Amino acid sequence: MEIAFIGLGNMGSGMCANLVKAGHQVRAFDVDSNAVSQAVAVGAHEAKSLASACTQVDAIITMLPAASHVMDVYMNGVLAYAWYDTLFIDCSTIDVETSRRMNEMASEVDRNLIILDAPVSGGVTGAKAGTLTFMCGGTEAAFDLAEPVLKQMGKTVIHAGEAGAGQAAKLCNNMLLAITMIGTCEAFALAGKLGLKDQVFFDIASKASGQNWSMTSYCPVPGPVPTSPANNDYQPGFAASLMLKDLTLAMQAAAQSNADTPLGAKAHALYEALCSQGHAAQDFSYMMERIRRGA
Ligand code: NAD
Repeated sequence: MEIAFIGLGNMGSGMCANLVKAGHQVRAFDVDSNAVSQAVAVGAHEAKSLASACTQVDAIITMLPAASHVMDVYMNGVLAYAWYDTLFIDCSTIDVETSRRMNEMASEVDRNLIILDAPVSGGVTGAKAGTLTFMCGGTEAAFDLAEPVLKQMGKTVIHAGEAGAGQAAKLCNNMLLAITMIGTCEAFALAGKLGLKDQVFFDIASKASGQNWSMTSYCPVPGPVPTSPANNDYQPGFAASLMLKDLTLAMQAAAQSNADTPLGAKAHALYEALCSQGHAAQDFSYMMERIRRGA
């Protein structure tokens, strides 16, 4: 396929490289010329403008920081230049409402444009290794078209429902992740105060009913899970600023849908405090230090 890839940052660079490896002709576009050069080094073709990226391609994939960037790219190029039957896949994490709006905008263009929201889980490591999980929102037809391409960048590709459903799944998942991470940090902190060694508490809780992913795959204390960021001075991984972004989107969605999310709100407040204390660039499991300090 001929694919335009827009947004070649931490995530997009690895995803773009995997599409090239799978044999696609990939046109790389980013406002940062260094990001484009890196994509060219792994076999993509430089697109000098949005127009040259998006004209006469089969699919356009966006992996951009936030909703404003996605809207900007769609309004100022993608929708205007895309050819008949082009498949749009937006992998950025954005709010559900904007995602639905983009879907409407694409369907208002009279060129049979097909659109899917497909945010990811799995981080930079998963993007490089091609093991991401894609959560997709859109029609059955859009999903069927996109699935083979997404499988070349990920291990798990799930159709969550209509437009915006992928974003909804992503926001709910990350709200739950933040809550389990904070709970895990609290449990380690209390266990320590009660005289338990981290490893001993891990050995018990990871086999008992407190077991969860934040403990067994991403343990926030150094030692029990050697690959977790806690063993590497809390270098991300998944930065606290990105967790705050996702929690902010989750809280917006909760307010709009009148959902009661008291723990989500508390998690949002705790990550806001962590980021404003100068730890936005550290891994989100740095919450352990904040909880141990107690402020
Ligand atoms: P990033 O900031 O590293 O990369 C974004 C890229 O988009 C940059 O290269 C930037 O120059 C480019 N860009 C910005 N505006 C542009 C425009 N108008 N036109 C073209 N290019 C533009 O971000 P990232 O870490 O790759 O994250 C991308 C998305 O994936 C975000 O929505 C993030 O929430 C989500 N996400 C990130 C992770 C992670 O671990 N980093 C995990 C899951 C999901």
